[in-house]
Amino acid sequence: MSRKHDRYGQHVYGSVHKKERKRWGPRVRTGQVCCWRCGDPIAPEAKWDLGHVDEDGRARGFPARHPEHRACNRATVTILKQQLARNALQASRRW
Ligand SMILES: [Zn+2]
Repeated sequence: MSRKHDRYGQHVYGSVHKKERKRWGPRVRTGQVCCWRCGDPIAPEAKWDLGHVDEDGRARGFPARHPEHRACNRATVTILKQQLARNALQASRRW
């Protein structure tokens, strides 16, 4: 698949996306913008992407596009699985 499309086949690096990423740039460089996926601040020198916020993220008040750690972008599936495993563990401990 072309690098210009995300896994849903959407064109992610169109001019609107580029403009928005540019708009976020200075704010991310202050180190005060939080990654919508993990909630941790994005360090000024960290690699980041302007991510597509999913339903869960929007329910938490994030806009449709929001910066995210590049690592979180790549690791989403792994993190979800870890969270599920953790939740299952906590649930089982309660009993
Ligand atoms: Zn993150």
